[in-house]
Amino acid sequence: MKTCSCKAAHEAGCEAPAAPGRRKFLATAVATGAAGMIGLSARSANAAPPPPGDKKFMEEATRLAIESVEKGWGGPFGAVIVKDGEIIGRGQNRVLLTGIPVFHAEVTAIMDASARLNPKALLGSDYGAGTILEMIPREQGSPDPVPERARMLKGCSIYINGAPCPMCMSAIYWSRIDNVYFAASLKDTSAIGFDDAFQYEDFAKPWADRRIKVAENFERETGLKAYEAWMNKKDRHPY
Ligand SMILES: [Zn+2]
Repeated sequence: MKTCSCKAAHEAGCEAPAAPGRRKFLATAVATGAAGMIGLSARSANAAPPPPGDKKFMEEATRLAIESVEKGWGGPFGAVIVKDGEIIGRGQNRVLLTGIPVFHAEVTAIMDASARLNPKALLGSDYGAGTILEMIPREQGSPDPVPERARMLKGCSIYINGAPCPMCMSAIYWSRIDNVYFAASLKDTSAIGFDDAFQYEDFAKPWADRRIKVAENFERETGLKAYEAWMNKKDRHPY
């Protein structure tokens, strides 16, 4: 059976069990400068920023990033997820170690936190209760068309030593994380050779104008069969 692939992280003090197939990441500290901030949830772009960040969490995210560099595991990116003042998830870039292009710090921190908060996901009929899949009402003023969603990582913040790429930012939306604190900017990231800033611009373009060739609505009727299966499933758990 495959166990946690992050032995070094566990040695550093991981509290979570090394669940099969789930990766755990770990930590201690280093220092950085002022953190950037992005507030999510239902606020408009001009609304108030997130609550003041805590430097120690950015230090931990940065420590993870430096560890990845020093061990040759990946790029200089680390992330921690915080709930009620405690770190519940850690991630670091391990693209070089794994050869997996999406092995980014933020995504793996989200998987780590989810594994910890959601130990019985999809197991048994009560899988929603007490897990991150538990349904909660939509926020006041939310544009969401449905009355409730799964909790996911609502109530959590993520600290990242560098600006999130669009994939990770999207993962943060899916996770319903409330606040993002990042240190280095997209420009800083471009300056050390990582080119993801263009993706934000590309997403705003029509499908036909993007850098990657996209065949829109190819065999739509075929794909829709899976959607029908979902809608026909009487006991489906929405999220
Ligand atoms: Zn990313």
